[in-house]
Amino acid sequence: MKLNANAETVLKQRYLIKDENGNPVETVDGMFHRVAKAIASADALHDEHADTDKTESIFYDMMTNLEFLPNSPTLMNAGRDLGQLSACFVLPVEDSMESIFEAIKQAALIHKSGGGTGFSFSRLRQEGSTVNSTGGVASGPISFMKVFNMATEAIKQGGSRRGANMGILRIDHPDILKFIDCKADNTEITNFNLSVGLTEEFMKAAEAGKDYDLVDPHTGETVKQLNARTVFNKIVDAAWRNGEPGIIFLDRLNRDNIVPEQGKIEATNPCGEQPLLPHESCNLGSINLTQMVKAEKGRKTFDWEKLERTVKQAVHFLDNVIEVNKYPLDQIEHTTKQTRKIGLGVMGWADSLLMMGIPYNTEEAVQLAEEVMSFITEKGRQASQQLAEVRGTFPLFEQSILPQDRPQRNGTITTIAPTGTLSIIGGCSSGVEPVFAYVFIRNIMDGTEMLEVNPILKEELEKRGLYSEGLMRRIAQEGAVSHIKELPEDIRRVFVSTHDISPEYHVRMQAAFQRHTDNAVSKTVNFSNEATREDVAKVYSLAFTLGCKGVTIYRDGSRDEQVLNIGKVK
Ligand code: UDP
Repeated sequence: MKLNANAETVLKQRYLIKDENGNPVETVDGMFHRVAKAIASADALHDEHADTDKTESIFYDMMTNLEFLPNSPTLMNAGRDLGQLSACFVLPVEDSMESIFEAIKQAALIHKSGGGTGFSFSRLRQEGSTVNSTGGVASGPISFMKVFNMATEAIKQGGSRRGANMGILRIDHPDILKFIDCKADNTEITNFNLSVGLTEEFMKAAEAGKDYDLVDPHTGETVKQLNARTVFNKIVDAAWRNGEPGIIFLDRLNRDNIVPEQGKIEATNPCGEQPLLPHESCNLGSINLTQMVKAEKGRKTFDWEKLERTVKQAVHFLDNVIEVNKYPLDQIEHTTKQTRKIGLGVMGWADSLLMMGIPYNTEEAVQLAEEVMSFITEKGRQASQQLAEVRGTFPLFEQSILPQDRPQRNGTITTIAPTGTLSIIGGCSSGVEPVFAYVFIRNIMDGTEMLEVNPILKEELEKRGLYSEGLMRRIAQEGAVSHIKELPEDIRRVFVSTHDISPEYHVRMQAAFQRHTDNAVSKTVNFSNEATREDVAKVYSLAFTLGCKGVTIYRDGSRDEQVLNIGKVK
């Protein structure tokens, strides 16, 4: 197997089955066999003569070759008693105590199994409005979010990974201003990502500088008006300060809602890439694009045949996951199986560009993004159509907005996940993000330092006889290959990192992938510390114009604790 040392460590710490003393009772190879066998077993549900051994070996090969990996809960839980395989859930929060605390309970069960939960809090009546049963006053969405947050905090230790949440509030909720600023203090609501749900009507009002209505969710009455541009600028200001909240475009999510009769989409999973209905879940999986690159006539290009084969097998895999998944609630099983959404995406995009010698921040890269993603979605659809011939369409196919002449097994096919852990296992850059830094200096326990160098940079430098530890230390210190003047010009141009890339190119890349993705794209638009509020506002407008479903921004150094730092220890 091709796993690197970091991958081995992550898998041993968090993915392998352990005994009561915390020692692994399976090997990494054993884990991949367990997963392949459990997922392949679903074939027998549709065909009693199915050769599940053959499917198992296809799935096993695809994972151990690091060509495709399913989301973490599938690796952790497939073939085990828990058997909860999905990364993404959305739970309903209605305007009642029963519903609020039911959602907290359900979220706790989901977090325990490694899944993340998203909620819209827009239905909760605003702070200070009356509570009929007691004659008291309502505490409002923000104070209930704090209860959700504490519940998540308390169950952190028991689960396989930290519980993650997404909290969404519509722009026309009367408590919107409090929501926008509720994470100004970074120690609050730490287990949540927040997004403001924007409407097209609001965006137009903001552009025109007009007022818009705040609506009491309980009575449906307009309670107040605010100036849309002022509120838009407040969101920009908060995000500029510390990256929160993000924004999502609700009308756009609902334009791609494949069965509008099933209800409105009001929320997404924690990292924003998967819009879902209340009580819906989705399982994700990612193709490692670095494994899809081949050398041809001295040039590196995508191996389209291999990519097509991998997409088809991945769709088969993910449809099987829906079958063998053990859902935390009957209602979630029911809603999920109504449309059988899957979320196939990619990782290692930036690394693939490096292998091909194409700088991330170029027209050529944006074009190639469109080409790769439209290919994946098209081949994925075909695979789902082939599955439908044998297994039938998803139950609501006829009510769906999908073309009726091509029956599909799965309501959606593609989603681009962050692949935070999967990319470590796959040994590649995460999702469609650029490379953050090419060299990290890692402190090891005994006080020694270890250099961690991007393998593609290392190979290129070694090939040209330029590699040295001293140079690597300088790159770590400078934070960018592009700053090292004595390196050849082409290396400095191709090996760009996050902060070499303008925010506009970040958005354009996100938009290129979004155009060919059924669900959404996880992407952070990174700004330098010096970026202004106007820069942030411009990116929001650009994301809206280019058809993104949402945006998350981050200005370097704007949080005390940031996950990745240039020139510092990882
Ligand atoms: N997720 C979560 N907790 C985490 C990381 C991820 O619940 O600590 C969920 C969340 O819904 C997120 C999704 O998993 O949007 C996909 O995240 P990612 O691709 O980073 O997960 P991986 O499969 O790489 O672990």
